[in-house]
Amino acid sequence: MTNADYAAVIGLEVHCQLGTRTKLFCGCRNTFGEPPNTHVCPVCSGQPGALPVLNEAAVRLAVRAALAVEGTIRATSDFDRKNYFYCDLPKGYQITQFDAPYCQGGGVRLASGRTVRLRRIHLEEDAGKAIHDRGDATLVDLNRAGVPLIEAVTEADLQTADEAHEFLTALKEMLRFAGVSDCDMEKGSLRCDVNVSLHRPGEPWGTKVELKNLNSFRFVRDSLEHEIARQSGLLERGAGHEIRQETRLWDADRAETRVMRSKEDADDYRYFPEPDLPALVIPATLIEAERAALPELPAAKRARYTETLGLSAYDADLLSSDPVVAHLFEAALETAASPKSLANLIANEVVPALAEPAVRARAEHGHPVAPADLARVTREVESGAIHANGGRRVLELLVRGDERDVDRILQEEHLLLVTDEAALERWCRQALVGREDVAREVRAGKTKAIGALMGAVMKASHGQAAPERVRALLQRMIDESEA
Ligand code: ADP
Ligand code: ZN
Ligand code: MG
Repeated sequence: MTNADYAAVIGLEVHCQLGTRTKLFCGCRNTFGEPPNTHVCPVCSGQPGALPVLNEAAVRLAVRAALAVEGTIRATSDFDRKNYFYCDLPKGYQITQFDAPYCQGGGVRLASGRTVRLRRIHLEEDAGKAIHDRGDATLVDLNRAGVPLIEAVTEADLQTADEAHEFLTALKEMLRFAGVSDCDMEKGSLRCDVNVSLHRPGEPWGTKVELKNLNSFRFVRDSLEHEIARQSGLLERGAGHEIRQETRLWDADRAETRVMRSKEDADDYRYFPEPDLPALVIPATLIEAERAALPELPAAKRARYTETLGLSAYDADLLSSDPVVAHLFEAALETAASPKSLANLIANEVVPALAEPAVRARAEHGHPVAPADLARVTREVESGAIHANGGRRVLELLVRGDERDVDRILQEEHLLLVTDEAALERWCRQALVGREDVAREVRAGKTKAIGALMGAVMKASHGQAAPERVRALLQRMIDESEA
């Protein structure tokens, strides 16, 4: 509800690049960040007479996406041509699915329990990239032309900017866990258009405005909040301030939307059936194979982490929002100590480090740190052999690619705590000399007083005495000296 009078109605169109090795209709590599126009062939550059051949791997990933959102997969669907002219589209048309998308229905559950229904998901090819920021020139890079995409269209079930943000986060997590895409908005693997209108509850929906080019979830939220306020301002002013059906662009620097095109020049794409491709037939055996291979999705993980492992909702969320993190956690858990200690170390050292490109890049080829090492450090911290800060220090080094093994790091960084009973006793006895005053306080129940003695032991041991052992030892020695 934007104010007392109006409610927002929001629907999203989400494009997601499929993480295949090659493009949708040719053998060119599906890559990002390579020199421009180095992954181009007659098919994806639109040479006359070149024929598309469907990439089965793209169909498999598309099916996986449909299964993740519990959509209904059509056994037979069609490809269509969407015709328009733009410099990043050399063929003059995009191959997509119009009347008969491969998937219909399905949805994504929000935390509130409400489900955002999906209207459809279709399979299509991406266009190339037009680069406008080189002075007067517009440059074209066709590496992206023909990269496989799915487009998921929601029903207009969303009501607030926050809900749109939550939906996108949930969808992105599902697609990443399902292995459909890396969903990296910075690389453009995930892109979103937003449709929004206002109405008085109980009355028909209002005229919608479409917001395009939203390349971060924050922009989705900001632009929606802005657009809802803009529309309610117009509605309140009344006659003469109608909302026009138009497409607007979000200008993040100015924090405002502005018109890109209005309904009058709405596109007519002249869709027609793609004559160069047969119908898309998805055999039941393929669907069943993908269903069997579908990994556990974030919602199920979250439930298992809280219910079976006893983790807090906060920890469960953190561990199940990134496949790299979840897989590391689960692999380490097989050999490690308590899930809670493991979750703490991952939250403090691994999750923040994954924001660093170098750490993230290493994680793409496996775990950011060997699960056995992570498990070992967790156990050492739990047993008191290393201090919690020491554990964090080892992980900080390992995650950033330190070549040394855990033992060497512990030794060379002086992180191993002294747990040897005789050595600890010696330090404790020294600390107690002449401190009968403290001992009396402790006996009188002021357990905090023991801190002064601990400080002395830490000083004598250069910080390497295991603190919990020292505390217990001091307590025992004081109790025993009572007689
Ligand atoms: P168009 O034909 O303009 O592309 P669609 O009916 O295909 O519109 O819907 C595109 C998206 O806009 C969908 O996500 C849909 O839920 C959403 N949508 C449709 N009507 C409205 C509306 N009045 N307000 C907000 N969103 C809407
Ligand atoms: Zn090609
Ligand atoms: Mg549409």
